[in-house]
Amino acid sequence: MKVVEIFNSIDGEGKRAGELTTFIRLFGCNLRCVYCDTPYGYDIEQSDYREMSITEILKECKKYATHNITLTGGEPLIHEDVQYLLRALSENNYNVNVETNGSVSIKKYFNFDGTPKDEYKNVWFTVDYKCPYSQMSQNMDMDNFDVNKYNYENIVYKFVVANLQDLEMAKEIITKYIFQKNEHINKNYNNIVYLSPVFGEIEPKTIVEYLQNTPELINSFTPVRVQLQLHKFIWPVEQRGV
Ligand code: SF4
Repeated sequence: MKVVEIFNSIDGEGKRAGELTTFIRLFGCNLRCVYCDTPYGYDIEQSDYREMSITEILKECKKYATHNITLTGGEPLIHEDVQYLLRALSENNYNVNVETNGSVSIKKYFNFDGTPKDEYKNVWFTVDYKCPYSQMSQNMDMDNFDVNKYNYENIVYKFVVANLQDLEMAKEIITKYIFQKNEHINKNYNNIVYLSPVFGEIEPKTIVEYLQNTPELINSFTPVRVQLQLHKFIWPVEQRGV
């Protein structure tokens, strides 16, 4: 597999923000978000990825004590053989968070009833929705967000927002697709929605104020949280491998 880097740090955002995890960054991305902070994840000019077998990746991960793995990119799910890596990590009892950009279907990792397939039972997903500022909204696979259709569990959703237009789009997608319409039919109470600022583009307090003034996003069975990317406050924004 094409591996840009494997390193240990804290998860900077999402469900286990602040916990130590081992990052596996695969090379290649099918999108080009205007605010991308990891162009070395897809740009051959900036990247020195190496080919590694799954056995070599596992060996590298075993150097670190944590059982948390964060698989990221680029876009990790565009790789044909990523399913075998996910199986191997799950079978080795790693707790695997897959950070995916929302454009690649995650359906094949789940049974029809929304439970993870046995071979991926320790794998869960952080699915981005690309709002208009990214210029990538048209690439979203909306099945990934339709909890009423697929009843997915173990998924958290992330909306990276830069302005009011993005917040409005986030509200529309969250209320139309992600919120449960019937609490007795769909019990995906583990789903969490994160609103995250594009660094330097919007004041985080603007997102908080939007939330306070948007009753449609309050008091759902699916919590909506504002989050900041911890690593950008701990290390210089441009630093790699943290
Ligand atoms: S999906 Fe992620 S890695 Fe790809 S261009 Fe967008 S921000 Fe960058």
